[in-house]
Amino acid sequence: MTPIYNFSAGPAVLPKEVLEQAAAEMLDWHGSGMSVMEMSHRGPEFISIYQAAERDLRELLAVPANYKILFMQGGGLAQNAIVPLNLAGRKAQPATIDFVHTGSWSGKSIKEAAKYATVNVAASAQADGFSAVPPQEGWKLSADAAYLHICSNETIDGVEYPFAPELAGDTPVVADMSSHILSRVIDVSKYGVIFGGAQKNIGPAGLTLAIVRDDLLGTSLPACPSAFDWKIVAEHESMYNTPPTYSIYIAGLVFQWLKRQGGVAAMEQRNIEKAALLYAALDADDFYVTKVAKEYRSRMNVPFFLRDESRNAEFLAGAKQRGLLQLKGHKSVGGLRASIYNAMPLEGVQALVDYLNAFAGR
Ligand SMILES: *Cc1c(COP(=O)(O)O)cnc(C)c1O
Repeated sequence: MTPIYNFSAGPAVLPKEVLEQAAAEMLDWHGSGMSVMEMSHRGPEFISIYQAAERDLRELLAVPANYKILFMQGGGLAQNAIVPLNLAGRKAQPATIDFVHTGSWSGKSIKEAAKYATVNVAASAQADGFSAVPPQEGWKLSADAAYLHICSNETIDGVEYPFAPELAGDTPVVADMSSHILSRVIDVSKYGVIFGGAQKNIGPAGLTLAIVRDDLLGTSLPACPSAFDWKIVAEHESMYNTPPTYSIYIAGLVFQWLKRQGGVAAMEQRNIEKAALLYAALDADDFYVTKVAKEYRSRMNVPFFLRDESRNAEFLAGAKQRGLLQLKGHKSVGGLRASIYNAMPLEGVQALVDYLNAFAGR
């Protein structure tokens, strides 16, 4: 059988080894006689799973001791409300929040935050069709913002920050890293908050990570739901309410897999290699079209177009025949998209490149 390669943007491909381990442990986790799904979140078995996941993630991202790692629910979209509900209280009401608008996801964050605060779009790449990150020199930041929000990898538009913003004052930077967390080395200390839904580059849907600096706990607005108040979640070690236990277990297996792969730095090298291979095939001639400026191209999500868009259906059908799945572009931008997360092996990208070349008649 030809191997299948899944290029979905999310929920997305998981490491085969992880799925095999989960299958082997499905009915009886480590001799407990229970599936992880059946365990109390307060029992010793699950607590050990949770603690290992927390410890491994902390190690993989070198999360400093003054940051809490929260395992929440609600996805990236819920964090669009949870972040302002937790941080707008840092300033007199109504607080101002700065945003950089680089694509669909930061656009959604702006819209949601406007329910809780005054929004200042410090820079926008909309007029350029979201083909770059506006250079930081041109950002029109507020004097007294509660925080600055960026989406460091725009999953739909394929735009990725090659830098971490450096702000002069004490304004914390909040980054939505849903689709590239753990794909590259980051300096956590440059951010006040990092959040991301798990279903892109970590594990199954249902789990949302928030990594929050200690001094940003305890500034929530009175209307903030208790289950979404980072301080309360942190005080209860993510067990104020029932956390998504099975998703945490799978994420934990992915963290162990990442450690076996050599950690995030080794993963980043592989991701650079995979992205270079794919973009080179798209750039080889003008058969395919990409819109993002080279410096800002995402290593994780690669949107592209056929110059002759009438052949999209034919392209997708041929891809499917070769076992190359879920290459349709997001409905809001059309075209095609290949998401090549950590769990996509180089062979999968090579198989896609072979098909791109064949389809282009090269
Ligand atoms: C997928 C995604 C989201 C939304 O995640 P949900 O889990 O569907 O809420 C938010 N931000 C980014 C960058 C994403 O890729």
